[in-house]
Amino acid sequence: MVSGPSGVGKNRLITELRRVMPDLHYSVSATTRPPRPGEIDGVHYFFLSQEVFEQWKQEGRLLEWAEYCGHYYGTPAEYIEHELAAGQTVVMDVETSGAAQIRRRLPEAVMVFILPPSLAELRHRLELRGTDAPATILNRLRSAYSELQKMRDYDYVVLNDSLETAVNSLATIVRAERLKVSRSDYGQLLETIHQETLRWEGRLVEEGEHPCSV
Ligand code: 5GP
Repeated sequence: MVSGPSGVGKNRLITELRRVMPDLHYSVSATTRPPRPGEIDGVHYFFLSQEVFEQWKQEGRLLEWAEYCGHYYGTPAEYIEHELAAGQTVVMDVETSGAAQIRRRLPEAVMVFILPPSLAELRHRLELRGTDAPATILNRLRSAYSELQKMRDYDYVVLNDSLETAVNSLATIVRAERLKVSRSDYGQLLETIHQETLRWEGRLVEEGEHPCSV
């Protein structure tokens, strides 16, 4: 799960990360926010009316949802459940309250917070994006401040001052998490070693050797 203030560059980071690690899957969120120029329904978001979003909520189709700067955002549950059951790694872009909801429902989820180099730089990036009105930018900067205070609930923090370094850090996090003992199939590994040992002992006995017990 990736969170961080609006304008910090999460979309770009996730796109680049998926280029480096093509086996990562991306969860497309639902939102009531109108599409920005170039955004495609079903690719960047599922753009829903307020009524349909409410219906998805009532039907339990959202793993989590939150209101952010006057619009609703939510993670469709079915896709996540399907991918996780198939052992896939799914990347999600969620604001901080959604991330906290997901952590409660999926405690094994890994939470990464993306930091901007400074608030001044964040504002500059929001202005450069050129898609939001000044009032919206102000709203998003205010949200940024409260989001930054939630950083301590996260597992990792990545500073997005250089795209390449930040993507490398994200890839390192994914690789390290995949190597955790708690995520490995160590029960199966132990069973394989046990079976190998029995086979080896059997062979020694057949050959007239007496394997000493340990
Ligand atoms: P934007 O409107 O800039 O695309 O996104 C605004 C905020 O909504 C971002 O902080 C983003 O992380 C968050 N967001 C995007 N999708 C979801 C979602 O499915 N759930 C939640 N809780 N937040 C989301």
